[in-house]
Amino acid sequence: MKKNKTPMEDWIVKRTGLISANQKSLSTYQFKKLVEVFEYAKANGAFYQKQFVDQDLREIKSWDDFKLLPFTTGADIKKNPFSFLCIPQQQVDRIVTLNTSGTSGKKKRLFFTEEDLLKTVDFFDYGMRSLTDSSDRVLVLLPGQAYGTIGDLLKKALARSNTTCIVFGLLTDLDAVAQVILRNRINCIVGIPIQVLYLSRSKAECFKQIEKVLLSTDYVPKSMVAELSHKFRCRVFNHYGMTEMGYGGGVECEALNGYHLREGDLYLEIIDPDSGSPIEDGKYGEIVFTSLKRIAMPLIRYRTGDIGAFSTDLCPCGTFLRTLKKVAGRYANRIRLDHDNYIDLSTFEESLLGDENILDYQVLIKNNSVLSIMVNFYNQNRLDQKISRVKEILVAHLSVNKKDNVRIEVEQGNLCKPDQMVNSMVKRRIIDLRKEECNG
Ligand SMILES: [Zn+2]
Repeated sequence: MKKNKTPMEDWIVKRTGLISANQKSLSTYQFKKLVEVFEYAKANGAFYQKQFVDQDLREIKSWDDFKLLPFTTGADIKKNPFSFLCIPQQQVDRIVTLNTSGTSGKKKRLFFTEEDLLKTVDFFDYGMRSLTDSSDRVLVLLPGQAYGTIGDLLKKALARSNTTCIVFGLLTDLDAVAQVILRNRINCIVGIPIQVLYLSRSKAECFKQIEKVLLSTDYVPKSMVAELSHKFRCRVFNHYGMTEMGYGGGVECEALNGYHLREGDLYLEIIDPDSGSPIEDGKYGEIVFTSLKRIAMPLIRYRTGDIGAFSTDLCPCGTFLRTLKKVAGRYANRIRLDHDNYIDLSTFEESLLGDENILDYQVLIKNNSVLSIMVNFYNQNRLDQKISRVKEILVAHLSVNKKDNVRIEVEQGNLCKPDQMVNSMVKRRIIDLRKEECNG
């Protein structure tokens, strides 16, 4: 079946004023904006004044020059978020504080003006057109009570295209959500992967009416996409974004083959995480982005910690825009056990969440040779059998197990259920007790 071209293309062409719709003109536009943001950030923000003390605007004449600029990291923001502010503090309309896992007590804060947030609304408006139109009825299972939250921005965006949108907030009550779905004839759900999976397994009867799903804010396991699309015949779209990007970054078109990015507002690169040098299309590396128009808090060459690659092929939808392949996880979740043994959270996500007995799980690294997996099951029947099954799955999927010196312990754990999440922006992770002990 022919795929409709991503609505992101016309939107980007319109907003950037490109005369010809092609990669070359877009690249020229982005370069012009990068130089402007460099100048703006250096003139107005303490962090970039210091960061670029040795770089002069006149020296940035080409992409090669730009790619020599130093990176910005999450640690830089945590250290002093206010040093990134490029406007007086009283002009900030929304502050987002991210709960991060570190023990330092320093928190990552992000600042936005109303205009910054409206740019995200604009992206959500056109991005959502990849999957919805005014005939759809959308339920958002993301926080949306307060001004400038992701749900609030999504609601504003969908109102522009006259699409019905109900923002429930995080999935905290299965029965209540099921009622909302039935009563409002919802056919599209936007939510966090683990919560949407939980809903689909617990309330399969009402999930049957769901035709489209948009998964956001964390790694989306392929096994989950396969389960939802086979069981309910719904189309599963992925969104890529993070608060640092202003929540939104890119969304899949009908080809469901990777994201088209918000390229009028953001410039994305893939770099080698060790050397920092650019990585060619097709190969995986760390995703780095630069905001092109952010007013309160521009970010230049911000290292996301996410693992990604640009596709070398043009998308079947026929757009000239680049396609970022589905994010393959985070570097922080690729953990070294000993010199040549790594484990990766995405392996657990793919293999364990694909087992319909498993509600959720947590991986703990006790030491270099012991992995402990706590598992929550949907019910407690035949527990021994289920635990042996988990071991079998892990032996089949984990490359570390080839080594005889890694022991895998599996036990039934008392974990928080997916409907007890309180913060939508906390990403799933492996707990490395070796580190926690050092930091402790
Ligand atoms: Zn496409």
